[in-house]
Amino acid sequence: VEEEKVAHTAEHAFIGALQKILGQTLKVRKVEHKKNSNNDNNTAFIAIPKLDIDTVIRAEHMVNALISEGREVTVRTYASLEDAKRDNPILRANDERISGEVRVVEIANHDVTACVREHVQNLKECEFFLVTRLSKSGGEYEVDFAVGRRAKDTAISLSAKLMAVCSELGANLNTVENTAKKVKREGESSFKRLKVLSREKLQSIAPVTNGVVKLYRGVFSGLADEALQEFAGEMIAEPNTVVAVVNIYADAEEDSTGRLIFARNETMKNLDCNKTFREVVGVDGKGGGRPHFVIGIVKGEKAKEIVDKISDNILRST
Ligand SMILES: [Zn+2]
Repeated sequence: VEEEKVAHTAEHAFIGALQKILGQTLKVRKVEHKKNSNNDNNTAFIAIPKLDIDTVIRAEHMVNALISEGREVTVRTYASLEDAKRDNPILRANDERISGEVRVVEIANHDVTACVREHVQNLKECEFFLVTRLSKSGGEYEVDFAVGRRAKDTAISLSAKLMAVCSELGANLNTVENTAKKVKREGESSFKRLKVLSREKLQSIAPVTNGVVKLYRGVFSGLADEALQEFAGEMIAEPNTVVAVVNIYADAEEDSTGRLIFARNETMKNLDCNKTFREVVGVDGKGGGRPHFVIGIVKGEKAKEIVDKISDNILRST
């Protein structure tokens, strides 16, 4: 297939460029040229311990320069790999996969590779080369790339995406990375502060008791879920202690929901939180857990009623 020839030849140019930049011979475990209806997916699997984006971008520039120059691609055949290597000292080859007659593909003054696939005769036919993804998987890197018309279309949609990201963040092309970092940092720090405030709020609960059981109960909104879970875990470490708290999601306007945590000290074997939760909550919630620790989702407008019922149930029956 023509498109595959084009993509595959560009792959030779790219690996050759990486070799020049890194000053080492690379081993390409395999190259895939998958076709599907809306985009071709070409992937080179390169066995290398470290490959960073800057290196890939430099190689990408080099490949496009070679395309503009119109480097010729020639193919010749040798009787054996030994012959091929004698004639081409810098030959790139997966030795173990080659036996008998060897085809050598050369991009003029750039790369010489033993390869059985089809190639174009001039890099000009590649038009444009674009790397679309770099990822590490096991001991190798996967590089996805596009060529020709596809590469141009992809470049346009990638730049459109970047512009959309800039506008969403209120940043420009020069500042977008720093803005993204700042947004992330601020989000993390707000969450930390929310957790601290949530803990303070929960720690202010005055427990109710029937003389036997100590119950921490309450309905809150907009707290950090993690804080509720931690609070419950710590409180129930104490004997004869039960926690029944709901956190209503502040951003849910209609049909608000709350996250309920209902937990007791492990030794209170005659209280099955799971069973009590199901009896009390009926159709107004779902969830469950172990006999001593239940996490449920309840209807926001029923949260207070549910917590009251749970607490009546406990204070009456223990
Ligand atoms: Zn090839």
